[in-house]
Amino acid sequence: MTKILRISRRNQEKSEIEAAAEILRNGGLVAFPTETVYGLGADALNPRAVKKIFEAKGRPSDNPLIVHIGNKKEIYKLAREIPEETERLMEKFWPGPLTLVLKKSKAVPKVTTGGLDTVAIRMPKHRIALSLIKKSKVPIAAPSANLFSRPSPTLAEHVIEDLHGKIEAIIDGGKTKIGVESTVLDLTTDPPTLLRPGGITLEELEEFLGEVKVHPALKGKKIKKMDFKSPGMKYKHYAPNANVIVVEGDCRNVKKKVQQLADKYRKEAKKVAVMTTDKNHSYKADLIKFVGREFNAIAKNLFKTYREFDEEKANIIIVEGVENKGLGFAIMNRLKKASCKTIKV
Ligand code: AMP
Ligand code: MG
Repeated sequence: MTKILRISRRNQEKSEIEAAAEILRNGGLVAFPTETVYGLGADALNPRAVKKIFEAKGRPSDNPLIVHIGNKKEIYKLAREIPEETERLMEKFWPGPLTLVLKKSKAVPKVTTGGLDTVAIRMPKHRIALSLIKKSKVPIAAPSANLFSRPSPTLAEHVIEDLHGKIEAIIDGGKTKIGVESTVLDLTTDPPTLLRPGGITLEELEEFLGEVKVHPALKGKKIKKMDFKSPGMKYKHYAPNANVIVVEGDCRNVKKKVQQLADKYRKEAKKVAVMTTDKNHSYKADLIKFVGREFNAIAKNLFKTYREFDEEKANIIIVEGVENKGLGFAIMNRLKKASCKTIKV
């Protein structure tokens, strides 16, 4: 049985959060909202609890989890050999959507880090997430609360769809603000290496740190299996059931190509969906959804739109690419990881 704990500004959230914290302390699983996406939490220091996360999600055991903390000082219990810039980064970006990879301390079990000697840590900026972590009094390992390879959940309904009956509780705190996951920055290299673009942009990090390496896998380079610094990189991710095709390039050419593809697949009797960033588009397809014009809106609506297209049984989703800068880097990364094909025009 999965308890659904609804929290809104009006109700008495204290008792809901206390109940969820108790489940976590007792080694159970609770899904909760963060500012990025919904997370599936367990006591990060309890190997048996953490193992349940992998089982519930169907996540491969070598794909490490992010440990969420409610207080910056906890980093010193979880990590060792902490480089000088860590504190400055925490001051500037925490609480917030930046995950820092550091050498792990003995306190962190290997199951949490997918067998790695490093640990990924973040302090989320969400009232419910923070108060749940603080109340539980343990660091909380929390990957996105979706089934492995599915789009990340940005609504409690998405978590219910994927995990109802498999976990003890789901806190419904409404729609998440950012909609794509945190930025992952590896601080064990000098300069630090960006492993996943996300809610904090590369440009912000570069401005703050001076120099940031971008992992070659993020530049579309083919990587040998052993060189995947962040194991999550090698898996297909964020994907709806339908096949996703991304079309990127000059705006006019993109529109032409999207329509050509839509026509082609509709002739093959496929149900074709188009995801557009132009409210005044003139596309013809079976399903068309406008996700927003600005990066913020697109990021917020992206995963939700995939799930809606799945519900409407689309076979093919054709997506207009966005510019690869700012939050657009994270959006393009998620689009490409979910796609079977990217076409440049
Ligand atoms: P998720 O929480 O599902 O959004 O995924 C967490 C992401 O962080 C995955 O891409 C992981 O591979 C990455 N990650 C977690 N821990 C580490 C680590 N110790 N080193 C490198 N990447 C990590
Ligand atoms: Mg995930």
